[in-house]
Order: sequence, then structure tokens, then C-alpha cells
Amino acid sequence: MSNICELCRRDSLEQAYEPERSTRGLKIHVCQHCGLVQSLPRIDRAPRAQAAVSGGADWGNVRYGKGFRTQAALSAIKKYADMSKDIALLDVGSNRGSFARAFLDAAPNANIVAVEPDERVADLSASLERTELVRARIEEAPLETGRFDIVHSCHTIEHLAEPMRVLADHWRVLKPGGLLVVDAPNIALIDSEDIVEEWFIDKHLYHFSARSLMRMISASGFEIISAPDLNDRENLLIVARKAYTAFPAIESDSREIEEAEARLTAYMSSRARNLSALTAMAAEISSYAPKRVAMWGAGRLFDSLVVHGQFEPSLLSLLIDKHLKAHVGTRHGTALQEPEALKDANAGVVVVMSRGFADEIVNEARRLAPRAEILLYSDLMARARHAKAA
Ligand SMILES: [Zn+2]
Repeated sequence: MSNICELCRRDSLEQAYEPERSTRGLKIHVCQHCGLVQSLPRIDRAPRAQAAVSGGADWGNVRYGKGFRTQAALSAIKKYADMSKDIALLDVGSNRGSFARAFLDAAPNANIVAVEPDERVADLSASLERTELVRARIEEAPLETGRFDIVHSCHTIEHLAEPMRVLADHWRVLKPGGLLVVDAPNIALIDSEDIVEEWFIDKHLYHFSARSLMRMISASGFEIISAPDLNDRENLLIVARKAYTAFPAIESDSREIEEAEARLTAYMSSRARNLSALTAMAAEISSYAPKRVAMWGAGRLFDSLVVHGQFEPSLLSLLIDKHLKAHVGTRHGTALQEPEALKDANAGVVVVMSRGFADEIVNEARRLAPRAEILLYSDLMARARHAKAA
């Protein structure tokens, strides 16, 4: 497979970073012409390993994130489509059918072609009404030209070896003026000052900024009609329309290159600093025993705390993770529990190990354990960094 830049097609990729615990030996490159950040080699087919819930690059055989983006995509579509019409929608990587279900509810005359290669989840969409399930990778799905009013692609484009080829195919299958809705992870998340998890995971081959993703979509023959929300540092949600304008040439972009390189440098140093502070965080959490300590969130932050901070999970009275529990029974030897278990746990302290869902976890924890003291990951990290520096 070629090592030219996927966006500008130049032989100008320069290695900038080597991720932690990459099982595929991936290296992160920045294009010295357009600034697109991309992983090499472009391995997009690897044998499925066991569910890996890891803070490292090997994270990600647990696919549960897409469901959280259903409402955002649906609201974006409602702004530009008449939901009472007979809409034909292509759902790329339909996963467990969460989006398809919500869309069919909101658009009573619509029909869906759902494309999903993962046999572990595809069947969940097989019985949906007004839905045709295609069990294939999007690159191999046989789809009719000009069939669709909307193409919806949620957290898929960053996994593809050749996203430009797939975008060209989305263009082909859309009707004139049809809508493309793309949602992808935002590289701006690595600016978070309390990041500890490896953001450059093996399953993601492209690492988009708002600008690089918009450029790629424009270069594929679309007109952007809704740019990503600049306040959302986790996701890039873009709505575009199939257009007939000449595809813009990809000009050199020194600012995008500088931003990408500065961002990677800052990420490496803040992540190294935070990883080295995890032992202090583990020590603070351990100091709350003999109070009963519950931890909520057993994903990547928890994994980092155990692996890098030598935190001892057996100190916990309770380890809660309502999303992961559906995929894995135990984490680092400790069984996962549902939130409801907090009701009878008599916890003195609840540690919230989440960044993106901290607010909603705090609300639920207050309801289930009104007398417990609640500690937030971000506060623990700030104190740990301070202790480390002192
Ligand atoms: Zn490039």
C-alpha cells in the first residue's frame, strides 16, 4: 500500500510520533504539504482480538461509542431534511442499529440500507422495519448509483485505509443535492490537559482536525453546509451537500502543519507528565480506605490508573461501568457492576473516572448515593500533578 498522503496525494509524510502499545506497529505521520495527520502502515484488516479495554493503542475491540452520537446526527439531519418525506438513507457502519432505530422513528416514511461488516452486531439491525441489511465492508458493499437522499457515516471514516475512495463512492450513490453527514473523532481532544490514554489507537488510521476533515470532504465533491461545532473537542460533525463544483486542488497549508506538529508535541509532554502523576493519584484514592470506595468508569482512564499508577483495584468496594459491563465481565480482576449496585453499597467515596461523561455520572451518583463524597478524575489529576511537582 502506498505511503503518499491520502488527501493531497503527495509523497510528503513525515513521522511525528510513535503510539504506546500499538500491536500493529503503527506510526503517526504529518503531511508536510497539507497537514493531515495519518497512521502508517494503513492496516485496516487485522484478526479480531479479544475485547481489549486498554489505555494504550491496542484499545478498541469494544465498540460502544457510536450509540452516544445518535441524537447529534439526528438533530443535524432534521435541520436539512423533511422528515415526513420518503427518504432513502444509507447508514455506513450501522453497528448495533442505534441510529437506524432512532431515524426510522423520526422519519415514518423513510427506508434504510444499513451496511455493517461486524457479524457480532449486524444481526441487531436485521429485524428492523424498512431496513435492508448489507453484511459487508463499505468498500465492498454493492450500492446503486444515485439511490440515496442521505448518507450517514458515524465514526467510520477514521478507520478506512482509503477514505477518499469511499467519499467518492458516497458521492456516487447520492442523488443530486443529497446530504452527507459525517461524524468523526476530533484530534483537538489531545489538547486536554488531563489526558492519560493513548489517543492514537490502532483502529484509527486518520486523525482529523475540523479543517482537515472539511478539506477532505470538499475535495471529494461536496459543499459543506454545516461545519463542526468549535466547542465540541471530542467530535467533528459535518453536514455537506453533493455538489457539482470543480474539486478544489489541495493547496499547501503551513498553518495546519504547524498546528498539527505543535499539538503532537504538547500531547506527548502533557501525557507523559500525567502518566507519571498517576501513582500520586492512586495513593490519594487508596488513602480514603477504610471508607468504602466505589469507582465509576472502568475504561481507558481506569486502565491507565492500574497500569501506570499501580493502583490496586481490590481496594475498591465497587467498580461500576454500565456500558462496558455489556461487553466484559471483569476489569483487572474486579467484576463490573451496574450503577444500581451503588444504592446498597454504603459507599463513603465515589470516584468518577470519566472525562466526557463526568457530569451525567455525578448526577446519577448523587441520586444513588446521596451521602457519598464525590471525587472527579480531573480534580484528582490536578492534585496529583501538584503533588508530583512539589
Ligand atoms: Zn497531504
